[in-house]
Amino acid sequence: MKLAELIKMMGGASQFVKRGQRIAVKPNLLLAAEQEKAATTHSSLLTATGKIFGKVAGSIVLAESPGSGYAYDKKTLEKTYKVCGMQDAAETSGIELNYDTSFETVSFPEGKLVKRFEIITPILRCDSYINLCKLKTHGLMIMTGGVKNIFGVIPGRSKPGYHSTMTTQELFAGMLLDLVALVPPKLTIMDAVVGMEGDGPFNGTPRHIGLLIASTDPLSLDIVASEMMGIPAEKNPLLVEAKKRNLHPAGIEDVEIIGVPLEQIFLPGFKLPASFTAENKRVLGSLLKPLVKNSFTVDPRIIKSICTACGTCKKACPRDAIVINKVAIIDKKKCIRCYCCHEMCQYNAIELHKSLLYKLVN
Ligand code: SF4
Ligand code: SF4
Repeated sequence: MKLAELIKMMGGASQFVKRGQRIAVKPNLLLAAEQEKAATTHSSLLTATGKIFGKVAGSIVLAESPGSGYAYDKKTLEKTYKVCGMQDAAETSGIELNYDTSFETVSFPEGKLVKRFEIITPILRCDSYINLCKLKTHGLMIMTGGVKNIFGVIPGRSKPGYHSTMTTQELFAGMLLDLVALVPPKLTIMDAVVGMEGDGPFNGTPRHIGLLIASTDPLSLDIVASEMMGIPAEKNPLLVEAKKRNLHPAGIEDVEIIGVPLEQIFLPGFKLPASFTAENKRVLGSLLKPLVKNSFTVDPRIIKSICTACGTCKKACPRDAIVINKVAIIDKKKCIRCYCCHEMCQYNAIELHKSLLYKLVN
């Protein structure tokens, strides 16, 4: 379905943007990757968003800080915009590209887990923003969609700090829910035209899905995407945490879907990340024998023949667990298995290695 039809179905652009307002669009620009990788929001969605909402808004700015391995600076933004097709899309649609790399620390006493966040300025200065996320798998959070995409409003090198303190899926999910409560998007549109399965969010496999999904509530959208991907709600860390907080909707039964029925958009055989199965095996391990509990693991492992020693993984690592000595070397004792290094390696030189016990029972 084309974006114009989707927005019309939801009541039109003026439902979300008042005439003359300054709005921001927040795509997923994990890193400077060609669009064929399906790691970033496709530029055609940015173009269409700019054309549709530009008829109402006074101005639209693209606001995003790429992943944790990259500084939030002009050089990173220029490269990322160019490689991801955003430069051309912005020119075609009249969207401004943001180069203001300032950010502010915002106090959030209502946060259940996090009481202050660092937020990039264009998100704080706009009247509202539209969240343009991508349907992908994710090593730590199993999937990334509407809610996880909002982590990109935190400046690049501040991100490892959040990973460092939110070391479990549960904590990270709680942090994300606080962040969304602080800066809720007006509208979330998911690029599920070509999504990513397997070991996402960067080194997975593109999968053609052919859908655009939109909601005023990113959590509702993620509940639907999770169902499509075949992730049981009780195994999706974000949805588990949302349920613990009694957030609405509590589950798929509370989400009203219009357009295409859910049964028609399931993705049969959708490949989830290795970490998803590992998490379940760990539960099995804890039941079997405490001694083998830590053997049901998926660890990041450097492929020495591919590693270029670029150092991006080292910058992304929240635990200082990586040194560069001709190639990257991971200190397993320090590693908390957040998979940020895997996410940030643009050379695909980090594999998610399954332990022997994991393989035996899998
Ligand atoms: S593993 Fe990847 S990100 Fe890390 S130094 Fe090697 S090539 Fe760079
Ligand atoms: S080495 Fe471990 S702690 Fe560091 S980024 Fe990779 S997975 Fe995370």
